[in-house]
Amino acid sequence: MSIQKIPEKNTVLFEWFNQYAGILLKTPTKTIAVDPVDIKPKTLQKIDAILVTHEHYDHLDPPLIAEIQKQTNCIVIADSASAKKIRHLVPPDKLKETKPGTEIKIDEVSIKTEKCSHPAEAPVTYIITSEDGVKVYHTADSLPFPELALMGQKEKFDVVFCTVGIAPSSTPQTGFEIARLTKPQVAIPYHTASKASQAEFADLLKKELPRTVCLIPERNKIYQVSKRSEKT
Ligand SMILES: [Zn+2]
Repeated sequence: MSIQKIPEKNTVLFEWFNQYAGILLKTPTKTIAVDPVDIKPKTLQKIDAILVTHEHYDHLDPPLIAEIQKQTNCIVIADSASAKKIRHLVPPDKLKETKPGTEIKIDEVSIKTEKCSHPAEAPVTYIITSEDGVKVYHTADSLPFPELALMGQKEKFDVVFCTVGIAPSSTPQTGFEIARLTKPQVAIPYHTASKASQAEFADLLKKELPRTVCLIPERNKIYQVSKRSEKT
């Protein structure tokens, strides 16, 4: 699992690498892995940052993070509950504990932490803005919450990842509700092993939110998304 190609200007590349919220994201200068689990550490040879959204087993695997961190020397950004679980495994200058409202910069790439509606200890979601201003919202396995509407208006997301299954109370409808509130250019149904859930999400989107494109990802395939034109 790796993305060799360098994204063109105003685009990012991504890959969904497990049935949960595992996303590898590449901007023109940085590579970021969100919630790595169920992968071999060797497959992540060159990354700049790992982001962890919460401490559940399908999002946080401490020994895996320790190994990836050691072999890449990347930084690890984590919510406070996850940070506690990996504190003894990651050098202190490489571990950045985060909470909603915090922005962390990796050179020109910005990572903003937002809240998350999910029954975990201190779960978070991440808005990743590339050096070209491509905005990707990784909503972990959040359920919809009202503040998403304002965030959508303010941020004008290019891509939003929407959980459609596996997590408590998550369905294609709750995933669709995240898309409806945030109104991205491209909405991506993930966190599921069911193609039927993804198709149901796509149907809802087509009916209720025709201006948002639904991208149904296959695992371990690379996709490109561009910045929406109305922003420039
Ligand atoms: Zn999950």
